Amino acid sequence: MIVKDRKVPVRILQLEALLRRLSVHHKKRGEIESDLAKRWAGYRGELSVDFHLNHLDDNYLIFLDVNLYYKNIHFQIDSLILTEAFALILEIKNIAGTLFFDSSFHQLIRKIHEKEEGFSDPILQAQRHQYLLSNWLHQNNYSNLPIRHLVVISNPSTIITAEKGDKHVHKVVCHASHLMNKLQQIKIDIPTPLLSSEHFQLLSEIILREQKAPSTNILDSYKISTTDIEMGVICPECSMKPMKRTHGRWVCPECNHQSKCAHEKTIEDYFLLIDNEINNQSFRKFTKISSRHTASRLLKKMYNPLSRPDLFNKKT
Ligand SMILES: [Zn+2]
Repeated sequence: MIVKDRKVPVRILQLEALLRRLSVHHKKRGEIESDLAKRWAGYRGELSVDFHLNHLDDNYLIFLDVNLYYKNIHFQIDSLILTEAFALILEIKNIAGTLFFDSSFHQLIRKIHEKEEGFSDPILQAQRHQYLLSNWLHQNNYSNLPIRHLVVISNPSTIITAEKGDKHVHKVVCHASHLMNKLQQIKIDIPTPLLSSEHFQLLSEIILREQKAPSTNILDSYKISTTDIEMGVICPECSMKPMKRTHGRWVCPECNHQSKCAHEKTIEDYFLLIDNEINNQSFRKFTKISSRHTASRLLKKMYNPLSRPDLFNKKT
């Protein structure tokens, strides 16, 4: 049973907002576009693994995209499966080509189109999450629950390889299609429930209560100044900016498109890029309108996508 669903990550929304508002000649565009493509690939990979988890019954509580904090250390788990007997962490990777898991040097090497590329070792990452989760459980008085981890490769055509006889990689890395078999094996290895159904439910509630993704300032991450951000309401038809406010509507000077609510997307961009709070003055500056009264009226109807990601995702 899926207890916590997955939504489009705020980081993806931030990167898209950034591309909408940087000059086409900005020197960071290439890097941002490449990062965005990787983030989308990662997210799509996670969704395709979620598909396999949909079939699990109510004895499995599934948390997708989990944010937890141990002593102020934030850790994000792609998927967490909880049973009364154990917890299972999934680290999901959507990487095409031939992968070599190098256990000696803890690196992941990908070969594709005759080229070699190194990635940080996802097994190490999963082990780190297991360590942090174990401490987090201890902190919440669930010390003894066994934890396992798996690295799941979401792309079915990816070839997984390792050093001959490397049993650990065989044990903890699998394709998504093999995930259910791995889960069954863990169930056989750890058959005895440790938690009462009451404690099981309570643990689920504690995890849900703690869900809060840390907010990161995307401009700081890319060392981009706010002065590089192009302001103004963007035309939903032709993407030109700024639209002009005339007689209670937004009008595009380029294609003449008219809209009553085009400013909403602009304010979403403001929240994603600049700050998670907005006042009348910043609103007028960002939407390029002069009337304080109009700004106040429009602002009252708005919400903040960072503080209400549930609403935000439903809307898009
Ligand atoms: Zn237009």
